Amino acid sequence: MAAFFRLAAEARQFLWVLLRGCAQLAFCDSPIAGALVLAGITLASPFSGLGTLLGALFGTMAGRLLPAYGRDEWAWGLASFNPAIIGLLWGGFLASGEVHPVLLLPVLALSMLFDVTFRRLLSPLMLPSLSTGALTTVYVISLVAAPAGGWFWTEAPANAFVPFGLLGAACIFAAMALKSPFAGVWALLLSAITFVAGWLADHDPRTLVALWGITVPLACFGVHAVFLRGSLAGCVAGTIAASLAALIWVAWEASPLARWVAPLLLPFILGVWLSIILMRELTAVPLAQPGFWRVARLIHAARAANRDVVALIQRGAGPGASRSSFISGAWIDPQVPRAAFEHERLQTSLRCRQAFWDACDRLRKEAGHSVGNLPTRIARLQRDGWLQAVVIQDVMFPTDSVRLGAMVPLHGDIQRTQCLDCGEESAWPPMSVWRRCDLRCVGCQGAVVPAITLFGRTIDDATSSRLRELEARCGVVLILGDEAAEPATLAFLERARNAGATVVFVSDSAPGYPRRPADISVAEPVGRFLGFLAFVLAGCPAFSGAWTHRTRRAFARIAAGRQGGEAAE
Ligand SMILES: [Zn+2]
Repeated sequence: MAAFFRLAAEARQFLWVLLRGCAQLAFCDSPIAGALVLAGITLASPFSGLGTLLGALFGTMAGRLLPAYGRDEWAWGLASFNPAIIGLLWGGFLASGEVHPVLLLPVLALSMLFDVTFRRLLSPLMLPSLSTGALTTVYVISLVAAPAGGWFWTEAPANAFVPFGLLGAACIFAAMALKSPFAGVWALLLSAITFVAGWLADHDPRTLVALWGITVPLACFGVHAVFLRGSLAGCVAGTIAASLAALIWVAWEASPLARWVAPLLLPFILGVWLSIILMRELTAVPLAQPGFWRVARLIHAARAANRDVVALIQRGAGPGASRSSFISGAWIDPQVPRAAFEHERLQTSLRCRQAFWDACDRLRKEAGHSVGNLPTRIARLQRDGWLQAVVIQDVMFPTDSVRLGAMVPLHGDIQRTQCLDCGEESAWPPMSVWRRCDLRCVGCQGAVVPAITLFGRTIDDATSSRLRELEARCGVVLILGDEAAEPATLAFLERARNAGATVVFVSDSAPGYPRRPADISVAEPVGRFLGFLAFVLAGCPAFSGAWTHRTRRAFARIAAGRQGGEAAE
């Protein structure tokens, strides 16, 4: 008895998978949709319906045994929809009896073999294999079995009673609407538009049935309902896919190619792929992120309100540079306690000073090796007046960034030395001098050491007061790239927030600072984000009226030049 129930359960699952395979023909996956699709095809053309059923049956059986299909894929009917398409196309032979039905079996197997191959090939590109297996089989069989230049497949006779055909179409539409009403209705609408357009252009709707009846609705529905289900983006992508597929279909039919090979499902497949690739590229661009536009508006508003925009960066080197040893602390000898490099200890102990000189020398050499540029895009924003100050946490930056003026190095500059008493700065002495002597200030005889403070420790008074000035004036703080939170920057952000500034995080790596509800986070590589930001902000004058003013001035100049030329004649 138990065996009977198990068998019954198996049989039921098998039937469900069989129907799902039929449903997949219209990008659906429920057994009810499968029954509707099968009924729809049968109503329109009984022999195609029979072929579809045979194909799906074969696919369901073979897919259950083949290890190439996972149990999940099989259960969703993904193993059987390629053979089902082949069966559908075989309907013509089932009706005419020209080719023995047994020959259908190897063709069905071939379509599954191609499907498995295309899945493997397309998975690194993250594209669905769709019905490429069936399509390739159709072309290959035609190439092998048909006379040179001929076409192997014949069309199954449509149901002689036209209302049955319409009822069949209604069944398939109902299956689509079950999956996603929005996507179904939209696909129907596009299909209708294509139908009317073809009719207005004096084409017989029957010759265009592959366009308005198959290519357009399938491309639209496939992208909309499956890959971007029911969303507005899906609607846009589906429409793009349908338009591209229709274009390819029309171009194919208009070209000499159409005399040899029918486009079949190829325009639909290409349309879906192109639209998926296009959407992937478009959504990867910062412009697709609402956060990007909020940041652009904030920066624009800050300028209008005469408030500063401040960038906080970890290091001056370009994007992609690894964390410097200054930030990671790798420059300090693990034998030496960090407290040895505090201001008071350095003032009193010669040994501490010597250890500090040695450690800083290592850091300086590293700076020499890894001279990056202050990201050119930060420099560009500064030059265009969108960015007023750059707070930098590292002590190494290329010399050309110094002339940018509005730089606030939080922990000093490794290329400089300073007197611990009066703070007088100068350049590094030769190695023979700092290695051998205890360097002293010319003015006050105080001890001289490299002009940096440790990462994460108290910053000097001059820098603190500059930060105070900035936080009172700034409207926006941009935290760019990898984050390295330390007490000084944490406090700076908190005070800037309290003073009414908006904090914006632009980074594609792990967050280092705690986020507040009013902050804006944009997960983007900094370079690309700033590139787009500079571009969009450069377009701002066009909207603010400054652009018209500038054009008018330019025209006035041209007019003045022409008058000058006439006068010279
Ligand atoms: Zn001094």
